[in-house]
Amino acid sequence: MKTHSERLFDEAVRYIPGGVNSPVRAYQAVGMTPRFMQGATGPYIFDVDGNKYIDYICSWGPMILGHNDPEVLKSVVEACEYGLSLGTATEIEVCIAKFICTKIPHVEMIRMVNSGTEAVMSAVRVARGFTGRDKIIKFAGCYHGHSDAMLVSAGSGVMTSGVPDSLGVTKGATKDTLTACYNDLESVKELLDANKDRVAAIIVEPVAANMGVVLPKPGFLEGLRKLCDETGSLLIFDEVITGFRLSFGGAAEYFGVRPDLVTYGKIIGGGMPVGAYGGRRDVMSFVSPAGDVYQAGTLSGNPIAMAAGMTQLQILYNHKDKYKELDRLGVKLYGGMEELCHQYDLEAHVNYIGSLGSLFFTQEEVIDYDLAKTADTKEFARYFAFMLEQGIHLAPSQFEAMFLSCMHTDAIIDETLNIFERYLNDTKIV
Ligand SMILES: *Cc1c(COP(=O)(O)O)cnc(C)c1O
Repeated sequence: MKTHSERLFDEAVRYIPGGVNSPVRAYQAVGMTPRFMQGATGPYIFDVDGNKYIDYICSWGPMILGHNDPEVLKSVVEACEYGLSLGTATEIEVCIAKFICTKIPHVEMIRMVNSGTEAVMSAVRVARGFTGRDKIIKFAGCYHGHSDAMLVSAGSGVMTSGVPDSLGVTKGATKDTLTACYNDLESVKELLDANKDRVAAIIVEPVAANMGVVLPKPGFLEGLRKLCDETGSLLIFDEVITGFRLSFGGAAEYFGVRPDLVTYGKIIGGGMPVGAYGGRRDVMSFVSPAGDVYQAGTLSGNPIAMAAGMTQLQILYNHKDKYKELDRLGVKLYGGMEELCHQYDLEAHVNYIGSLGSLFFTQEEVIDYDLAKTADTKEFARYFAFMLEQGIHLAPSQFEAMFLSCMHTDAIIDETLNIFERYLNDTKIV
């Protein structure tokens, strides 16, 4: 007998490409079919067959307060009374922009959009408009949404252009995207030298969280800042995951490195579809209608989405102790997993920082994309299936992060570690 999830998936694939509205949800990487979820509350998520899971996806980041936070929910319901969309300037847009710009020193002006993809696409356009340069440097393994110029895989050698990483992306769209190696300043220097006065911006996930979690080596972000200062390129931190997560001011605040532009998404919308880009006033003043870099959006700054985001950001800002607590829980969970891996001689590495972490089935420590790719994805799939069966909802891919929320507790983490130990026992070669 098929489960309700399986029946829904059978139907979904007939009407939706791959049965899902975003690829990773399809469980393809772990060779399974997805669980269809019905709802979620606090640290838990429930599927349509009545199973309950501890959720370590947390909607890929937005639900940092836990699912269905009552205050966020209340603000949304209240906002709905005034209309779902006005298509005009509204007061709440001023509130949230002022809130962010007065709390985060490197954000002097900000523009709201509807997704992280849009935020990055727009930030790159502004960087090009401001500098009058065409090239962008990104890093292998960093994800910046699905705009054409960012769907690129590295060309061979510093003089070659990036090549499209998806059908439908033209060579023209990626020819100005150069790819460097994460944590390797030398690879960035080479690209800058070979493209003197032509690089508009370096864009980086200050903590990479889309090839699994990969931390910047000490000095890496500072080195990028210095290279940008020397060459007149702008430094863009893509903080779509790290923003309001590692600290209120994101990775920039956490590491004390000031980007010229920053992109947000995920947490900033409190669960609603929101992205944003902001940064230096002189750069952001190039955005239309203040300046000549065109960027627009019918639903940008939507009042319901702004209400959710504003409430979530206010809660985070007013309770900064939550970040300490997330750090503590992160050490307990990810440090605990690391410890267990040692104890059971599992060939694996746990990378983590604050509430973000990932378990890599690799021989070596993972500091860049090439090393991430050495992971044993078959073992990951086995681990994933085991954990899911035991009620642990993990991202169905070796190359995604685990997310903790403020609703995860010591007891929940203990339970998770127990289940992880059962997996290790189950795996142990006897
Ligand atoms: C999720 C993500 C994006 C894309 O955001 P969407 O809202 O999915 O378009 C961009 N950059 C990073 C670092 C992300 O994690």
